[in-house]
Amino acid sequence: MTDTYMAADLPFSGSPVIPEMSDGNKKIQFQCKKGIACWNACCSNIDISLTPYDIVRLKQHLDITSGELLQKYTVPYELEPGGIAGVKLRPVENGTACQFMKPEGCSVYEDRPTACRYYPVALLSMRKQDEYTDTSSYALVKEEHCLGHQEARSLTIDEYRKEQGVEEYDEIARGWRQLILKKKSSGPSIGKPTKRSLQLFFMVCYDPDRFREFVISEGFSELYDLPVEEMGKLLHSDTELMLFGFRFLKQVLFGENTIAMHQETTAKRLEQAKQKLQQLETEAREKRSAEADDMYSESE
Ligand code: SF4
Ligand code: SF4
Repeated sequence: MTDTYMAADLPFSGSPVIPEMSDGNKKIQFQCKKGIACWNACCSNIDISLTPYDIVRLKQHLDITSGELLQKYTVPYELEPGGIAGVKLRPVENGTACQFMKPEGCSVYEDRPTACRYYPVALLSMRKQDEYTDTSSYALVKEEHCLGHQEARSLTIDEYRKEQGVEEYDEIARGWRQLILKKKSSGPSIGKPTKRSLQLFFMVCYDPDRFREFVISEGFSELYDLPVEEMGKLLHSDTELMLFGFRFLKQVLFGENTIAMHQETTAKRLEQAKQKLQQLETEAREKRSAEADDMYSESE
């Protein structure tokens, strides 16, 4: 199954994506059903990117932590060279099939990832430079092994999205897509993210249990001013935590004021940074003067 979800870069060249973009009213001819001759062919050779909401649904379905899910069922990859990362489903050891594939079908069907729900439709999210608002277009993916295209049923892409339960998935992960699109299209105006901010992006988006520990840490509450009710929601709901995380990343990656900070702590940190800067400047000055002394005594 080719990953058909969330492409800011058009995947047309050499791919099975039909190079014709359309909106949700476009009719497609497709049906996947048990008993079809190609049953499970799509899940035998996977390339499936996961959204943060996919992670939440899968970890809840399997009743494991996000750390365990990441370790056993995913592999990281670069969403852009040297930049922010994504995660994909990890296939079976020494093979290409999905670990969740069973002879009777998908063993996590009710919580299957967005890309699996979309298939064989490709979502192409796009946005204007430095804006968060994205627009969605769709394309059809035709892979030779998939016989669903030969079935007589026809329906619109919007009807197909509804049938596959994609709308909820798209809505909840919208903030994540917008962050990626903004990062990809903002280029040098935003600058290269620090290693620390890339690590934060990974933790917030793909490792919610670790992010929760971070949010309840003393350091976090010293810096950020979160109302008690909001903190309560974050502790009890993975989805609320994820949505909060997207806001947090806007602050970390793009310097937007999305979460209130304690003024006293902020002032203290600014003062510490100022002192550190002064110390570095003094050290640099002393070093330059020592070097000048050395040069002078050598020339005597
Ligand atoms: S999660 Fe389910 S639908 Fe998706 S590739 Fe795996 S087995 Fe197939
Ligand atoms: S019809 Fe397509 S999506 Fe359905 S099982 Fe066959 S290959 Fe997979």
